[in-house]
Amino acid sequence: MDNKIMEVNICHLYPDLLNAYGDLGNILTIKYRAEKRGIKVNITNISIGDDFDPDKYDIVFFGGGQDYEQEIVSEDLINTKKLALRQYIEEEKVLLAICGGYQLLGKYYTTAKGEKLPGAEILDFYTESGSTRFIGNTVIYNEELDETYVGFENHSGRTFIGNMKPIGKIVVGNGNNGEDGTEGCIYKNTYCTYFHGSLLPKNPEIADRLIRNALEKKYGEKIHLDELDDDIELKAKNFIINREKRAAVK
Ligand code: GLN
Repeated sequence: MDNKIMEVNICHLYPDLLNAYGDLGNILTIKYRAEKRGIKVNITNISIGDDFDPDKYDIVFFGGGQDYEQEIVSEDLINTKKLALRQYIEEEKVLLAICGGYQLLGKYYTTAKGEKLPGAEILDFYTESGSTRFIGNTVIYNEELDETYVGFENHSGRTFIGNMKPIGKIVVGNGNNGEDGTEGCIYKNTYCTYFHGSLLPKNPEIADRLIRNALEKKYGEKIHLDELDDDIELKAKNFIINREKRAAVK
């Protein structure tokens, strides 16, 4: 990639409807970390009635929200974007989905009032609301990568991912469903999680993985990202891990 300025095109899906608990921070983190490496970042907002062109984007972000907004998004997703989004995901392009967005990529989501919202049916999981909400800070561990991630969850949905790969195993909190110890789901280059708060500022390893994967897919070659000074990020993360672990044993 010598002498060529790399570029990453981000699509923010439904930013006007799904943007709970600071989810926008994920896009800001990708932009910040990419620009620090001299990579040009373009952000496009796509919402109700807009077409989604899978060839235009390198990273798609799909945030979380409340049941009311999810109902509106579910209908639009199925009517106008489902097939193109499936193509994008199957082509191994990078997507990050949080909570409400995560739920809508699966088979269905049954809301807290018992209404069954159809999902895009791209990923093989389903979500049903429980009688309580899972609210609080969360810590998970990814054994394969030996990485620990922190986040904040607030959802009534319980997601069951079957044999799909989770992002990590629960150390503190509830994650996918409060029963099987899993959190999130990874399929190809699609990362789904309940972590708001936002996810990427506190977990820079994931942010860089998304950027690297997106660039490698786009330019078809190995990409090296220069190290950034993540001292503050890692201090914040370790502070949360230690505090939450201590609170959990009380
Ligand atoms: N409304 C969904 C639930 O409660 C998603 C919530 C969210 O995105 N925070 O499970």
